[in-house]
Amino acid sequence: MLSFYKNLAKLTRNTSKLVGKKGTDLPGKVLRKLDKNILVKLAKQFDEIVFVTGTNGKTTTSNLIGHTLKKAGINFVNNFEGANMLDGIISTFAVQSNNNTKLAIIEIDEGSIKRVMEYITPTRFVINNFFRDQIDRFGEIDTLIATIGEQLEGKDVQLILNSDDPFVTRLAKYGKNNIYFGISKDAYKFSDYGISESKFCPNCGTELTYSYIHYSQLGYYKCSNCGFSRPNPDYTVTYAELKPFISLSINNEDSFSTRLAGDYNIYNILAAYTLLNILGIKKEKIKKGLGSYTSKNGRMQSIEITSKTTALLNLAKNPAGLNASLAIGKTIDTRINYLLILNDNGADGFDISWIWDTDFNILASQNINNIICSGKRAKELALRLKYSEVYANIVVLENIKEAVARLKKYSEKYSIVIPNYTALIETQKELEN
Ligand SMILES: [Zn+2]
Repeated sequence: MLSFYKNLAKLTRNTSKLVGKKGTDLPGKVLRKLDKNILVKLAKQFDEIVFVTGTNGKTTTSNLIGHTLKKAGINFVNNFEGANMLDGIISTFAVQSNNNTKLAIIEIDEGSIKRVMEYITPTRFVINNFFRDQIDRFGEIDTLIATIGEQLEGKDVQLILNSDDPFVTRLAKYGKNNIYFGISKDAYKFSDYGISESKFCPNCGTELTYSYIHYSQLGYYKCSNCGFSRPNPDYTVTYAELKPFISLSINNEDSFSTRLAGDYNIYNILAAYTLLNILGIKKEKIKKGLGSYTSKNGRMQSIEITSKTTALLNLAKNPAGLNASLAIGKTIDTRINYLLILNDNGADGFDISWIWDTDFNILASQNINNIICSGKRAKELALRLKYSEVYANIVVLENIKEAVARLKKYSEKYSIVIPNYTALIETQKELEN
């Protein structure tokens, strides 16, 4: 029966692709209609199911892991198309696995953890960070984390946690044999993203004391009242630099260079490195994999748009993500251009007020020629820029095609392109055209 379902899933995916859809969710939806417990059955043959989550970077982390395992010749399933909700995850298991597949690396949307864990329990769970994101959908961050805690309680899942994020480590008590990863205070000076999440102790509500902050709520924290504090990481980034791509050392012994820019990616590389070590992959293979990964999904993707210009394309959908994208410009020492695209379609959340929580002053010290504002809310973006210390020629072109065409006329070596969610695909297509 299971093989019938798998064939049906493949057929559904192919048909769906034929009519121009991505085909990532529909197979799952169809199978779930036929058998409510399909995910339980599909997951039975697996020895190891790893979940990867976090507000920012889960796709990159999961892709880094997938790319490395593939290069190491390991048989596994991975929802690399970003199908990270229940139906997408069912599709991944149904379409990709054969009888010998024992390992699954599953990127999971924070808001879908409860629904998916009704059917399957991961053996290990990588949790990278929690930031305010799409509030309309998730509700308050505290509620979200409490819900995840309820799902994990009593299930003996090994948690692989970012020791630097107090939102993440408050989940530690629900895990077994936890492993921590973090960045040492002298390893790298992060851009000031100007984001402040609330920094209160999850146990007693006392304000946390920080002896060092990487950015936002990430750093060396401690509660003076109850003793809640940053755990000592098992895997520590001891050195990192960006030019604009990341090189780093882990535990003072493993050094390697990557093809990823954006300093927040240091955490994603570290999370991937930590999990791959736990899975027993040889160090040389890990370094080879992590060092050769390039993004194709609009997350810090580099695209040559003309013979002179490389665009660094990076999706941003919340203040932390946008601040991080704006900081990329700091690692480039020549004159640059920006293209910012803001839509307000359903999947973006209709409320775009978060751009006012973004710190556009990050651009003040950068050497910028032009900033093109595009998308349905281009004018609002331009207005926001007026209220910050930005010295550049501001251009408003709502139509994405026209905006990219204008960008291609500029001759600077690097352009930084930042679309929000529903603007990504069209922008990427126009850049690659
Ligand atoms: Zn406390």
